[in-house]
Amino acid sequence: MAANLSSPFLGSPSAGDDYLPTSGNGGYSVLDYDLDLDYRVATNRLNGVAVIHARTTMPLERFSLDFAGLSVVKVTVDGERPRKLAETPRKLVITPERPLADGAEFTVVVRYRGAPHPIRSPWGEVGWEELADGVIVAGQPSGAASWFPCNDHPSDKALYRITLACEAGYTVVSNGPVVLRANRSGRTIWTFEMRQPMSTYLATVQIGRYRSRSLALEPVPQTLFYPQALEREVAIDFGRVPDMMALFCRLFGPYPFDAYAVVVTPDELEIPLEAQGLAIFGRNHVDGAHGTDRLIAHELAHQWFGNCLTLARWRDIWLHEGFACYAEWLWAEASGGKSADANAAAHRTQVNAQPKDIVIGDPGPQRMFDDRVYKRGALALHAIRRALGDPVFFDALRAYVAECRFGLVSTEDFVEIMEARSGSDLVGPIVERWVYAKSLPKL
Ligand SMILES: [Zn+2]
Repeated sequence: MAANLSSPFLGSPSAGDDYLPTSGNGGYSVLDYDLDLDYRVATNRLNGVAVIHARTTMPLERFSLDFAGLSVVKVTVDGERPRKLAETPRKLVITPERPLADGAEFTVVVRYRGAPHPIRSPWGEVGWEELADGVIVAGQPSGAASWFPCNDHPSDKALYRITLACEAGYTVVSNGPVVLRANRSGRTIWTFEMRQPMSTYLATVQIGRYRSRSLALEPVPQTLFYPQALEREVAIDFGRVPDMMALFCRLFGPYPFDAYAVVVTPDELEIPLEAQGLAIFGRNHVDGAHGTDRLIAHELAHQWFGNCLTLARWRDIWLHEGFACYAEWLWAEASGGKSADANAAAHRTQVNAQPKDIVIGDPGPQRMFDDRVYKRGALALHAIRRALGDPVFFDALRAYVAECRFGLVSTEDFVEIMEARSGSDLVGPIVERWVYAKSLPKL
């Protein structure tokens, strides 16, 4: 092949999402990640081996992975050293010895080490972060590359097996159930398996001196991890998780994953966060008086909206946050609190007092996590529910979840499925007014 024809065969160093133009990579899609991590909490030293099994989506002479802040020790592609390996601050650019054919499966092994630390982003520091005595990983939206080489865009979902060894005495919580735990010379090795497709930003590791207790075993095991000092408070605050689980299974359809864990850190956290199969709260989100039920319901709802059904482009973030916010209102309504009507009216008044300068269906990267994305998103859903009536609305919503299960979603998909399943053409115009306009409609 002539040299000047080779340029179409270079994988793009971007997933092409204009909200995060430097994240993700083109030319291939990852099938599974097998991460084997050896970590020392005391010194924050990580030695890792990432085995990435992927498939090309075009003939590839070169491709990249997102990777930041750690040192590469060795890379192989299908067992061979690459012809060329270039490291930039955010990418690992690999030219394999032999070009990869279109549709070919290949395996990249990256050995690496270093002191992992968060990545600076327009949304604050994201990724692997040390706690006073442990670790938290908050990957959204671009932090995954701080602890493993990856194709860091939510549209490239893959399966995961995560093994982490660290000092005995710590408990490790990650995505999916523990499938193996072994002790070896003062260290404990934990292995987790996520058997449902997962986006990179939802991959996580939580390490701490945690106690655990079972909250329920059905429909999936629900386990609480917490510092001993908060034992009394967490038992009260998270005691309703099984009821929330039952409600959301009824309203949204079956819980999508094999287990659910809640981690409460001994440190304060700015905000709680969701990962696939678990949610993480700070000690400041616990009061022993159900003061944060709203947040607990919100994070659980992300297992359906965000984790199981994941945005294909970050501009559709309201499909995660608006839905999780609406789930807060649904929980309040079902548990003897405010009705969704009352919550909607109160929040419309609140949103009305803020500038009308945001389109939540395309809020811009700086304002992805603006409160109005959450509240107007929830208001949009409430308006659709009122227009369709409860039975039709919830049937159509469950159909949307079932049809898009473990896949990627867009606002267009949501409207199309809701209209098809409800037999109503009101959904599109409501979304137009609440999601794509700046002015605030009446309820
Ligand atoms: Zn959220």
